[in-house]
Formats: sequence, structure tokens, C-alpha cells
Amino acid sequence: MRIFVAGIATETNSFSPIFVGLDDFKASLYAAPYQHPETPTLCTAALVDLRKRANLEDITLIEGTTCWADPGGLVSKYCYETLRDEILNQIKNAIKHEPLDGVVLCLHGAMIAQGYDDPEGDLIEKIRELVGDQTIIGASLDPHSHLTAKRFEFADLLCAFKEFPHTDFEQTGEKIVDLVIRTIKCEINPQMAQFDCKMIDVFPSSHQPMRQFVDDMMAAEKQQGVLSLSLIHGFMAGDSPWMGTKMIAIYNGDMKLAEQFARDFGEKIIDIRGQSMPKTVSENIATETAFALATDNRTPIVIADVWDNPGGGVAGDGTVILQCLLDQLATHKNTKISVGTIWDPIAVQLCFKAGEDALIPLRFGAKSAPFTGQPIDKIVRVKRLNSNAEQTFGKSFVPMGASALIEFDGVQVILNSTRAQAFEPSLFENMGIDPSSQDILVIKSTNHFYAGFKEISDQIIYCDAGKPYPNSPKETNYKHAPKNIWPIIDNPWGEPEKGENI
Ligand SMILES: [Zn+2]
Repeated sequence: MRIFVAGIATETNSFSPIFVGLDDFKASLYAAPYQHPETPTLCTAALVDLRKRANLEDITLIEGTTCWADPGGLVSKYCYETLRDEILNQIKNAIKHEPLDGVVLCLHGAMIAQGYDDPEGDLIEKIRELVGDQTIIGASLDPHSHLTAKRFEFADLLCAFKEFPHTDFEQTGEKIVDLVIRTIKCEINPQMAQFDCKMIDVFPSSHQPMRQFVDDMMAAEKQQGVLSLSLIHGFMAGDSPWMGTKMIAIYNGDMKLAEQFARDFGEKIIDIRGQSMPKTVSENIATETAFALATDNRTPIVIADVWDNPGGGVAGDGTVILQCLLDQLATHKNTKISVGTIWDPIAVQLCFKAGEDALIPLRFGAKSAPFTGQPIDKIVRVKRLNSNAEQTFGKSFVPMGASALIEFDGVQVILNSTRAQAFEPSLFENMGIDPSSQDILVIKSTNHFYAGFKEISDQIIYCDAGKPYPNSPKETNYKHAPKNIWPIIDNPWGEPEKGENI
């Protein structure tokens, strides 16, 4: 059996000023054929699993280009078309003499490019044109994506991570690979249905009620015939005509049952709308609470800057929480505070020029977008420089680019030059900070940080600081996203019907 694997993955925040081009893919992950590292990345676990399967079974694996850019704004037309055509040419070469039995795509699913409101749908459609109807096309997706008509029509199998934090990215890669192989072997006859929940929300699975929903999906997948269940959470910062929460069910040989599972789970999600996002507090309450708690001898207090999250496509250079902490420093002098990270490639360059131990005047942060605070001006000590900093996320390594640890007024701040949200405490350790020894840690992430940081902290504060991200769909000025979904309108479902199979 001959299987081709490739992928283009990123997440586009239509409201972000961070334009995305080829350099951004090269800074995060760009793997030419057969150059992908041994370890999986968030969206490329299927490739790593396919290598294992190819070693064990009679599979000829043809690797194409896989790439990932950290979430940002619109992807340039040139960038998308270059990467797409690279992959299409690789497929043309692969099918010159022999057809492909399967194509596995390592996608994210929330890309928007100049002139393309559904790049992944465009990619899958063009691959289908090349390989024909007999080739099985499967794709792994991030749930923060858009389930568009094209990708549903032209792919046979779509599976998304269930967990948020996406700690199950490897299992999802294994799952899509297994389903593609079993379909090629005619062991299964997958029927894929979707259900439009007509809503958009944020669904961390680390908290109830979403924890139970994910557990229920996993329990249902153990039932005979249920091949895969995926909830597409949707991505509210992506102004896509297909934005919204949708349920995918894949059932063996029975479309009616696939539709039933998609509807049942879709209706469950409608019932828990508005309840899944942990409560956030303002920067004033977050910092006052953190200082008050930090006086006890305890694990670090983590303040998560949930919306200034580069993982959601914003710059990640906001200073609102840091400034609020600095304003209170006079009365909390001995509190140990570390901030990881603030994106500022210019400030990092200046630190590198000055060198370790230099004491320099530095302006950093809040340069990219309104409503993210003001740049901070300090005389800082350059404590540590790392030209290739990275953090871990499970077995994967997440690049942070050239990074500088600076210190002033007893506060330590990591400045990075490749935007990356906080995943794990290794973010601090790799820059020379023992995070457990700190009183307050400020990180930027909506929820991906949770699994890693709950290991070292018994107090996590979700903070809503500034307005870097369009987190209120009712107020967001969408041009393309559907307007007839909750919470933009109160009841898009009518009664007694809820949502619809499409
Ligand atoms: Zn995601």
C-alpha cells in the first residue's frame, strides 16, 4: 500500500496585525520531504506514526512537505500557494507511475490566506482532483478550526484532538493513520456525518462540564461501529464563513448512525454552552490576589494572560499585567516575579548586542497592537541569552527563537523573538529560571498551559487583561462569519429542533 503524507498548518486570527509569510513557517516548522524530526509536533503526529507503521507493515510511505507557523494574522497568498503547489507537485511525482492508496494530511484547519477563505479545503479539493476518487484522504485537525463544506466533501476521514490543552495530539495522529489504513484494507467502511451546533464558544477540557463531554466521546468510541467522534470547537478569531462549533461522527457502514451520533453529541454541546470557559478576572484583581497569596509559603501563583495568547494569533507582547504588578511593587518588594514571555524581537536584538551581564536602557513590549498596554522603559540587566530557546509540549519541542532574560526591580522577564504561547514550565527552566522558586509567574496562554503548570502550582488565576483578542463574538465586527449563531443571537435553533445535520 502506498501512502503520501504532507501538511500545512497554522491558525489565522483575522483581527491580528501579525501578517504570516514563508519565513514564519521556516521559523516554527518547515520540513522538506523526509526531513521531519523524529519527534512529533502538534499537527504532525500522523507523519511520525506513519513512519512507525511503515516499518512494521507493507506500507510504502512517501513523505511530502510538512510545515507549521505559529498562529498569526492573514497568510500571504504567495506563501499559501507556494506551500500548496509544493505539495501538489510532490503528489504529481508520487502518482506518475503508480496510484496512491491513501493521503494523510497534517492540518490545523483554521488557516485563512489572502484570496482564500478556505485554504485547507482548496488543498484537499486539488489533491482529490489529482489522486481520483479511489484514494482515501484523511486529515488530522485542531478543534480550533473551521469545518468547511469543501473539506468535508473532498476528504473521507477527519479527526480532531479531543482535549484542550491538546495533550492527545499523538493519539489523534495515530487514530487518523489507523482509520486510513483500515479503510484502504477494506476492514471498515467509514461513513462521516457532521452536525452544525450553530454556536461558538471556548471549551477547555481541563474543567467541567467539558471534561465529562470529552470522557463521554471517548467512552462512545469504544462502542462497536463508532470509529471516531470529534468536536470542532471553532475559532472565534477567524472571520470565516464556516466559523462555528460542529460535531463530526464517523460510523462503520451506517450513515444514519453517524448522523445520530453527530446530532446527539452536538446537542450535548448546545446544552453546556456558556459554561465551559473558566471565570476570568481583571488585571487588578488578578495581581492583588496574587500578591496577597504570595505572602504564604506556597507554590507559585500562576497568572495566565488568557487572551494575549500567541497561540490565538495575537502578538503576545502585551504589558497590561506586568505594569499592574510593577505599580504595586513598592509594597511587595521581596516578591519573586517572572514573566514568560513577551514577544519583542527588536528588544532581543538589543540585548544580544549588549551581551550577558550588560546593564542597558531598554524599551520592550506592547508595540504591535492597540489595547495591549504601553511599552515599558527600564534600565535592565541582561541575565541570560539563548539564540535558540525552546520549551517542551509533551514530546514535542516548541521554538521560541532568540530569547533574552532581563531583570529589573527584582522582576525577571523573558523576551522572545519567535512568538509562542506558554505550554510548560520548561519555558522558564530553559532560560535559567527555576519556576518553582518564584512567587508569581505570568504566562500567556488561554488553556494549553494548564496541564504543565498545574504540576507546579496549586493556584492558577485566569486573567482578562486589555483587549488583544476578539473574545466576545457578540461585539466582534465580523464580515464573513455567520451572524445567525449563538451568542451573536440568543436562539438560532428554534424549538424544539436544535442545530442540524448538514
Ligand atoms: Zn487548538
